[in-house]
Formats: sequence, structure tokens, C-alpha cells
Amino acid sequence: MPIPKDLLDIMACAFCKGELVLEADKLRCKNAECALVFPVKDDIPIMLIDEAQRPCPKCQAQRDWNDDVLKCPKCGATHTYVRKEGPGG
Ligand SMILES: [Zn+2]
Ligand SMILES: [Zn+2]
Repeated sequence: MPIPKDLLDIMACAFCKGELVLEADKLRCKNAECALVFPVKDDIPIMLIDEAQRPCPKCQAQRDWNDDVLKCPKCGATHTYVRKEGPGG
């Protein structure tokens, strides 16, 4: 069974809170700078940054995930984690 559309609509990228698009058996973040790809196992999206593919948008190398920052070991591009804003900061 595919992931229900209404569930997809409320799901957001675990890293940047961006919109996700379902591609076969994975969920791709629409944010070009982020572009994380989360696996879907048994129709359950695995929204863990450790489990995600982290292709660099510039050179496609897998980025390292460290201290809230994605950093490309090849070209040095970085992308910083966006914390969900809440009341009281
Ligand atoms: Zn994202
Ligand atoms: Zn790169």
C-alpha cells in the first residue's frame, strides 16, 4: 500500500522541514540545498537523517552529518539544520 497522500502532506523533511516528494520507495526533500532522500521500508518512511541519502546538490558526493550541519567532504558545501520554531524559542 502506498503512503496516503494526507500523510505525505503533513510530513516534512527531518532536516530542513521542507516539502517531500514521493519517488518510488523513497521520499526526496524538495529543498534544493537540502535534497535529502529518506528511505521507505514496508511503506513506513524512515525519517532519520542518519538513514537518509545525503547527496551534495553541487557534486553529488554523500555529505557528512555532524553537529547540525551537513558538510560535503568533496566540495565543502554546507547546509545547516533548521530547528522547528516553537513558542518561547
Ligand atoms: Zn530537507
Ligand atoms: Zn559537494
